[in-house]
Amino acid sequence: MGKQSGNDVIRCSFCGSSAQEAASMVAGPDVYICDRCIQEAANIVDGDQRGGSRAATYTHSPKVRSLTPPKIVEALDQYVVGQHQAKKAMAVAVYNHYKRVSAEAYAPEFRDVELEKSNILLIGPTGTGKTLLARTLARILEVPFSISDATALTEAGYVGEDVESILSNLLRACDFEVEEAERGIVYIDEIDKVARKGENASITRDVSGEGVQQALLKLLEGTEANVPPKGGRKHPEQSLVPIDTTNILFICGGAFDGLGDIIARRRTSGAMGFRATARANHPPRIDKDDPRIFQHVEPDDLLRFGLIPEIVGRLPVTTALNALTVDEMRRILVEPKNALVKQYQKLFALDGIDLHFEDAALTAIVERARSLGTGARGLRSVMERVMLDIMYDIHRSPAADACLITEATVCDGRPPVVESRKASA
Ligand code: ADP
Repeated sequence: MGKQSGNDVIRCSFCGSSAQEAASMVAGPDVYICDRCIQEAANIVDGDQRGGSRAATYTHSPKVRSLTPPKIVEALDQYVVGQHQAKKAMAVAVYNHYKRVSAEAYAPEFRDVELEKSNILLIGPTGTGKTLLARTLARILEVPFSISDATALTEAGYVGEDVESILSNLLRACDFEVEEAERGIVYIDEIDKVARKGENASITRDVSGEGVQQALLKLLEGTEANVPPKGGRKHPEQSLVPIDTTNILFICGGAFDGLGDIIARRRTSGAMGFRATARANHPPRIDKDDPRIFQHVEPDDLLRFGLIPEIVGRLPVTTALNALTVDEMRRILVEPKNALVKQYQKLFALDGIDLHFEDAALTAIVERARSLGTGARGLRSVMERVMLDIMYDIHRSPAADACLITEATVCDGRPPVVESRKASA
């Protein structure tokens, strides 16, 4: 893959950087290597010869090396609509994460300062793109990715899955290649559901909440975990796979219902009372129903919500996703690479039919989806309901070659406008 066919761009055969991106490029018979990869290789050899740290032997997927934060955001934009702030925060966190695990970071001149892990917490209403962002990120970086649900976990000794089962999912996602898994991304959904109940922790044991948070700590921080390859609970006869989680990036997400109240209350209490005048610079009050309220979250709010301080500390990058606007929902229908409208158009095109939607039809689909209260997730179910009869009936007119979905099709179930040029010819 030294040269890219067509425009003859010379690229590094290891990381894919072009000759312009690299300071220098060494050529061999049909292969090229850039200065950064030479340096990395030298560090690895150096580390190995000194019995150096295990992290120094990690290589990245070629993609990881060639992406800067703006390039990551650009790539995310192709799949995820809006949420720019979250994209930026994730891009920088991921860039720093892979820099931290790169061999360069272990080069002699950088050994004094240890870079800490930048796990990410995504806060935002359901169906706004948290999982999609994490999944897309892994896809762009070409690293293994898995999703686990925090609600399925319990602390050791109780009914439910051990936290290590999170890593079983990751192992499965990369065909049990341990080294691959050790540089992957894990998304833990519904982290808000393992919050301890109430601000003052109960003195009784909280099996579902705090125990799970405690059990997650080590994984997030970096540990050698013994993983049951098939997931579920560990049992004595099972052979366990050791996985080092030091270089695994954890992204936790949740809707955090009720967090808006906590943020609003904090802002209100600070802006009222006799202390208010002393705090002339106190940020203005904020309404708990403000769609952008999560942008103002602070670690203290998360503690009040019920996350334990150690978990908050191990998720240093906190970023919020906003509730989607009508315009964003409309764009989700048509813009992303695999937008729903594009998917249906492809299905119809495979039958030789041009599928179109009136603008008003798209707006009606968005309005219906919004009334479901499940964010963009509702778009698919509304669309499927609208398209089912159409996909069935279109085959009654075998010569159909164009189909227009109107507002009346969406709102009143009226048939779409079907054209048949072949028939009229
Ligand atoms: P959650 O925030 O609950 O994790 P998801 O990321 O699973 O939501 O989103 C559910 C579905 O809605 C996705 O598969 C995707 O099709 C769509 N979706 C949600 N938000 C966006 C967005 N910002 N851009 C594009 N599609 C989105």
